[in-house]
Amino acid sequence: MKEKEKIVAVVLAGGQGHRMQSKIPKQYLLLEGKPILYYSLMAFERSQVDEIILVTNEREYCEEKIVKRYKINKVVKIVTGGTERYHSVYEGLKECRDCGVVLIHDGARPFLTDEMIERAIEGGKKYKACILGMPVKDTIKISDGNGYVKETPERAKVWMVQTPQSFSYKVIYSAYQQFMKEEEQVTDDAMVVEKFSGIPVRLIEGSYENIKITTPEDLVIAEQIAKKYLPKAEQVKFC
Ligand code: C5P
Repeated sequence: MKEKEKIVAVVLAGGQGHRMQSKIPKQYLLLEGKPILYYSLMAFERSQVDEIILVTNEREYCEEKIVKRYKINKVVKIVTGGTERYHSVYEGLKECRDCGVVLIHDGARPFLTDEMIERAIEGGKKYKACILGMPVKDTIKISDGNGYVKETPERAKVWMVQTPQSFSYKVIYSAYQQFMKEEEQVTDDAMVVEKFSGIPVRLIEGSYENIKITTPEDLVIAEQIAKKYLPKAEQVKFC
């Protein structure tokens, strides 16, 4: 019988978060008394993910104040991040050998639910490349770069994408290896697969609450979501 393939989550916390205008990188700011990064690590700890690889430039803080303090035992490696997000992803990917599916997640996106992680894992197994997202609520315009509207895509087909993004490890690692030779600008991991593999990327449902905390106004919304998210999330671990 084929041995069960490992499922690994690479959680990114190597950014500086300049858009937050805070001295502390956004993923370590507190929400309901807990660092933002704690929330997604804890969600993966509860899930069927086998191992977590954490990418951060604050190794000691993460080890002491998050991983040990909250007993997040699935963190098997803490890796130093790179200059751009994609450098951090690549550092994480290099460390997760022998795995079947890898989930890449922004540590600044705290409100992951158990169901979302399950959908991402199943999608990664079935489609080899799948991303969480939601249809946009607003009409989106593509600008011509000079302040005028160039085109208006059909709203029903426009999605805003989130993380986790879930891939067959072989597919994403080989796409990243090719991409790192060229290093064009990419804003998510699916773009690397789109450019460097023939695998179609499947869109699956995330949640409108799966927000990435980027600017100060996101924190106001996050405080509200955290109030209802935390009690539910902690039941499993502490009761
Ligand atoms: O800056 P942005 O919002 O795109 O960052 C998304 C996630 O990627 C954050 O969790 C951030 O910590 C992480 N990141 C990283 N290494 C970088 C830049 C961002 O791990 N060089």
